[in-house]
Amino acid sequence: MSPITIQAALKNAGERLDALDARVLLCHAIGRDTAYVLAHPEALLRKSELETYEALVARRARGEPVAYLTGEREFYGRSFQVTPAVLIPRPETELLVDLALSHIPADSPSRVLDLGTGSGCIAIALASERSHCKILALDQSVEALAVARRNAVGAHVGNVAFLQSDWFGALGRELFDVIVANPPYVASADPHLAAGDVRFEPRHALDGGPDGMDSIRHIVTEAKSHLTPGGWLMFEHGYDQGERARLTLHAAGYEKIFTAHDLAGTDRVSAGRLTHEATVQ
Ligand code: GLN
Repeated sequence: MSPITIQAALKNAGERLDALDARVLLCHAIGRDTAYVLAHPEALLRKSELETYEALVARRARGEPVAYLTGEREFYGRSFQVTPAVLIPRPETELLVDLALSHIPADSPSRVLDLGTGSGCIAIALASERSHCKILALDQSVEALAVARRNAVGAHVGNVAFLQSDWFGALGRELFDVIVANPPYVASADPHLAAGDVRFEPRHALDGGPDGMDSIRHIVTEAKSHLTPGGWLMFEHGYDQGERARLTLHAAGYEKIFTAHDLAGTDRVSAGRLTHEATVQ
């Protein structure tokens, strides 16, 4: 490969992939930020940089998500490491963080549980915003927990603990004031699972069974044994699952049930509060 400029490298890849993706991959390959790349179109790439870049471009052209190629994704204003062991953080999930924060007083030592933490992005965002809180983040996957732990170290949060657990399976009798989850909620036969970036993400983090609601139903039922009286359960779901989520919460005896919309205006997070009567002893 003869030396080529930043501009030429971007142009070459432009035929195979999105211009923004090409720029992100180039920045990653040369260890520079967007500002540098924009300001130095004539700079020559080193042989090793070009090789790294070309390899990334080829993998992207085969469909691999940019976040897995660069190993990071931004969420709630922070950078998180990601590997194919974890779901790539999505902007719509920031709504769940916002809603949880609005139910966690800034100065009280609330206890918060994050189910299926994956990269840890929800738990770590909450831990950073609420230093008085204690967050417990669970995942069934050891590989995911390793990523989440690294992210907690990177974010310098000391108030989040991690535990390997299949949903509530490994928990004791400890109660939480707020339980949050971004569970798998895509229906098993949904063609979405076979398209785009999603194909490369862990199936168990996405597939919610025949109607996509299997994990949600389990969480709604079981959370009752792990919430303080008056505690909140909040979870993300699909754009067409708001009504079913509310009915599931209602049937389980939660109160103050509501669904919130993401920035695209679609149903995205539903929540309910555990009544004193519904508390499981
Ligand atoms: N929103 C994700 C998607 O559509 C699904 C995330 C999930 O199942 N928790 O790809």
